[in-house]
Amino acid sequence: MKNLLVMKFGGTSMGSAERIEAAARLVADQARHRPVAVIVSAMSKVTDLLLDSMKHAEGGDEQGLNERLAKLAEKHSEACAGLTEGEERKQLWSRLSSILEEFERIARGILMLGERPPRSVDEAVAAGERLSTFLMAAALRKLGVDGVAVNSRDVVVTDSVFGNASPMIEQTREKAQALLAPLLSSGRVTVLTGFNGASLNGRPTTLGRGGSDFSASIYASVLDAQELWIWTDVDGIMSADPRLVKDASVLHEITYAEAAELAYNGAKVLHPRTLAPLVEKGIPVWSKNSFAPEKPGTRIVPKAAAPGTKPRAVTSMTNVALVSIEPASAVLNGTKVMARALEGLAATNAEILALSSSSYQQSFSFLIRQTELPAVTERLEEAFSLELTHGYMHPIDVDLDVGLLAVVGEGMKGAAGLAGRIFTAVSREKVNIISIAQGSSELTIAIVVRKNDVEKAVRAIHAECALGS
Ligand code: ADP
Ligand code: ASP
Ligand code: MG
Repeated sequence: MKNLLVMKFGGTSMGSAERIEAAARLVADQARHRPVAVIVSAMSKVTDLLLDSMKHAEGGDEQGLNERLAKLAEKHSEACAGLTEGEERKQLWSRLSSILEEFERIARGILMLGERPPRSVDEAVAAGERLSTFLMAAALRKLGVDGVAVNSRDVVVTDSVFGNASPMIEQTREKAQALLAPLLSSGRVTVLTGFNGASLNGRPTTLGRGGSDFSASIYASVLDAQELWIWTDVDGIMSADPRLVKDASVLHEITYAEAAELAYNGAKVLHPRTLAPLVEKGIPVWSKNSFAPEKPGTRIVPKAAAPGTKPRAVTSMTNVALVSIEPASAVLNGTKVMARALEGLAATNAEILALSSSSYQQSFSFLIRQTELPAVTERLEEAFSLELTHGYMHPIDVDLDVGLLAVVGEGMKGAAGLAGRIFTAVSREKVNIISIAQGSSELTIAIVVRKNDVEKAVRAIHAECALGS
């Protein structure tokens, strides 16, 4: 659609009636002169609260469940009261209540069964985003903007990997064109849930934690948007997580490839899969601060004007697991073991963050996100059950005491001596390096260290490469 703007608001940008009003003003400013599709996350901490409620339900803790349900209701009723009055408030609250009741029904079902099936969790957890769409639509109405709340379950088509689904772009495009294009053309602002979708046969799914950024880029792609603006709580994409490095600086422009590397290696400011749907059409993305909208933010573009000669940023993640697989018998072909292991990983949609192997021992280790670990170990134990039972393979080893850091930048390509400087800076801090990986694109150097050493190492690299302001 010509000159469509897609805007996504994260949890903190939707964190209270006041924040939702500020977000709605940003939407209204744009909606005056071009079509706008808005993607919203759940209010901050709400997704955690929903997941936590279901965990307590599964564990049979009815009181814990009730406390959390009350908290959810209170948070949304406060936002409702802050945004509306009189008849409007009554109508909005009745919509919100019915979503909260739907969630409660599923959670009580989990309590009764003592079981938390992934498909029920996916159906229930999108409640946070659904609540947000109605709050945003109400805030827009107050500003005279005609916003219509839409559940992405009716638009975004995915595979059936509950909790970590992948979109089916063509099917999604058809639905978006049929359902959303007419609304947008008639001047209505569509307010869409981030995070969720449904499988081809209509089962509700979610795209993984932090997935609303990904929802926004899926929509930008299938609706042929002119631009995507991602509103968050920092001034843009920075040279390091500002929570770890005090003098981290905002990057004015970075490439898709750099942004994707940063996101995959732990920069929470973007969901790892955000850039993929945009590459083909080269749709530009802005990362902006909804608390300081006057600041320019970061522009993410297909190609760099001037790649420079040093890294752009250093990032890290500690919620990872190092999984090692080692044959115990020379009868097993190491390459075939690796192929079967990778096939198992692929079936869970898990992503390998780093991979290293020893050709002599035919063993190999890979790093994945801890959230993906239960599904991955289950698959691997299934795939190798015979070998494990008969001792042809050592038990699968999982090391949780590790972290990943990554130094990223297009300008690193061919920069002689840079890797040496980075490793020297890390070892000066007496940090032991467990493994190292550098892709052939030379865009990223990834280093695995002990979890406790991650922050020290990030600061050392940030200082050594003078990435600060
Ligand atoms: P939202 O709720 O808007 O999606 P997130 O909490 O998911 O926001 O992401 C924003 C957070 O990402 C920031 O508050 C910041 O602490 C963290 N972050 C990590 N690495 C970076 C980075 N390189 N640049 C900016 N923010 C980062
Ligand atoms: N609300 C979801 C989460 O917390 C999705 C998102 O915020 O992007 O994971
Ligand atoms: Mg996020």
